[in-house]
Amino acid sequence: MKLILLGPPGAGKGTQAKRLEDKYGFVQLSTGDMLRAAVAAGTEVGKIAEAIMARGELVPNEVVVGIISDRIEQPDVAKGYILDGFPRNVAQAEALDAMLKGKGTELDAVVELEVDDSILLSRIETRAAETAGGARADDNAEALAKRLTVYHEQTAPLIAYYKARGKLKTVDGMKDMDEVTRQIEAALGISKGKGSLLSRLTGG
Ligand code: AMP
Repeated sequence: MKLILLGPPGAGKGTQAKRLEDKYGFVQLSTGDMLRAAVAAGTEVGKIAEAIMARGELVPNEVVVGIISDRIEQPDVAKGYILDGFPRNVAQAEALDAMLKGKGTELDAVVELEVDDSILLSRIETRAAETAGGARADDNAEALAKRLTVYHEQTAPLIAYYKARGKLKTVDGMKDMDEVTRQIEAALGISKGKGSLLSRLTGG
């Protein structure tokens, strides 16, 4: 299963990707996590990305496209992967399509987590307050608001892009976490929880 989780910052993409990874073994591929690791390790990519990320802007396409094309070649993603935070604009989506086509494959689905801006802004403020001076350089109110603007300008057009290609599934990201997971599973036609066909058949 090759999936994209699409949605604004604070929509819960990382949380849901992690859950799908734990449950189904699809590997979560977060370009944000990979870039933060590169910054921490002081690599060439990290040096390019650090200041851009701190401002809440997008790292150049060739950098993230290069990272993803290397990563999806690794044997551990054979069972499937969930792209979390990539693609972030139409040029990246086109590069991904070309990459997959070159391997004779394509995406299975793109799951959009839909969340109202008013909710995101209050989550963003809470997160900025909780992490003040803390873990992420871009978790301050200013950078978070910038990331939301960048999402609307550059990433939201991907909703129409994938809809036109018949890949888009939209889920209500404002429900509680368990319900969002259930909706994603229903949209993808997979399930492993209590009450699922699999657990009923196996008595689990
Ligand atoms: P995230 O953890 O997905 O919120 O990403 C954190 C930051 O990393 C973003 O605000 C961008 O600066 C950078 N980043 C992550 N993924 C991408 C991408 N696909 N394209 C460009 N920049 C990215």
